Amino acid sequence: MLIITPQDDELAKGFLGRWCLLNDFSDCDAGILAMRRHSGRMGFEPRTTPVLHVLARLAGVDARHMELRHSMLPFMSFAMREDQQACGGGWSSAVVTHTGFLTPRSSAYLCPACMKEDLRSRSYSYWRRSHQLPSAFWCDKHPKERLHAVKVEKPFDRMPDYWLEVGLTEPEDLPEEVRASAEFTSFGDACRAMLEAEVSRNVTHVRRALCDQAQSLGLTTKRGPFDLTKRARPSDFAQRKVPASLRRKLFPSLELKARGTFYNEIDDAVRSGNYSSMPLGTAFAVSLLFPSVSSAFLSMDAASRRPPSKVLRAAIDQLFIQENGSLPAIASAMNLSVTRVTEMVISHRLLIQKAIDGHATGFALKAFYDADTLSLAEACSRHGANLRLAERALWLKGVPKSRRVSALVE
Ligand SMILES: [Zn+2]
Repeated sequence: MLIITPQDDELAKGFLGRWCLLNDFSDCDAGILAMRRHSGRMGFEPRTTPVLHVLARLAGVDARHMELRHSMLPFMSFAMREDQQACGGGWSSAVVTHTGFLTPRSSAYLCPACMKEDLRSRSYSYWRRSHQLPSAFWCDKHPKERLHAVKVEKPFDRMPDYWLEVGLTEPEDLPEEVRASAEFTSFGDACRAMLEAEVSRNVTHVRRALCDQAQSLGLTTKRGPFDLTKRARPSDFAQRKVPASLRRKLFPSLELKARGTFYNEIDDAVRSGNYSSMPLGTAFAVSLLFPSVSSAFLSMDAASRRPPSKVLRAAIDQLFIQENGSLPAIASAMNLSVTRVTEMVISHRLLIQKAIDGHATGFALKAFYDADTLSLAEACSRHGANLRLAERALWLKGVPKSRRVSALVE
């Protein structure tokens, strides 16, 4: 087997393609099969070792170096579940196998000027990792050069000059003026910062920071088709704030979205309690909501130091009783926004009621709803419930008495 080493900023997937071409494999699948057979001889467990790591060993580079400098892993895995996060030594085999060769865009991107320079200096061209970021429309090294998209199947099985030669590339058409916009610049900053991150962040902390920031801007982050509060969502904010041509490039279907409806690709990235990781949505939300990437990262760090919601909820039980159910007082005691506390109390009300007086509040409310003539005070005294707290609970329910909802005790 011919041994080659990856070039500066060379994408691992393109490097694999180049290695397969040089070693005369018909395509990358055939190359990977051969590599798998070879990996046993290199002392790897052939079935479980990620191809990216086998490729690194073949090229004589460190596996971690391959992950951090040649794959899109840091960007793709920026926000991950706790059990999948990279610690000092790198990502788990499962993550590397699944994500090691993924790129965030549906097409492959090349710069014609880089390609010509490559051919002159080393007689072959190669795929740049930085060109595959969703924010790359012009080449950083050749600012006048628009990147070209290659929309074919398995673009990285061939080198960039091949696709340019056969005429299967399409220059990007994002208008020049978008490039000068603050939105475009901050989106690029967010993408690059995510690619340069050396470890993943806990997705819960990332979402929490984005969610809090969106709420502080007066946006709603609730799931569901419509928002009853009539507040705008982050995706509505994007429709207003981001230049139309950039929006259309990144999220083609965003144009069709009606105001107030939930748009997965953006709104899901800004929702707490969501465990899926969408790097494009995360990068976009960071640039949309925060004044700078560093302020977003600081806020994620702060979120990682906050106690998990389980602990917060136990604290709410106690505070709800102590403060007689006053949400502003609870919010100030917990240093959280009133909106956040209201949401937590509503989603947690049954446990709060139990913490207050066993099931008494629930029974009192049920009795109040079921009997037309019974006042809330009478119902509470009959069941030994605290009237003040029952009133708060009733208000939080927001259900009119006429509906006679016996399901109040749920
Ligand atoms: Zn270039």
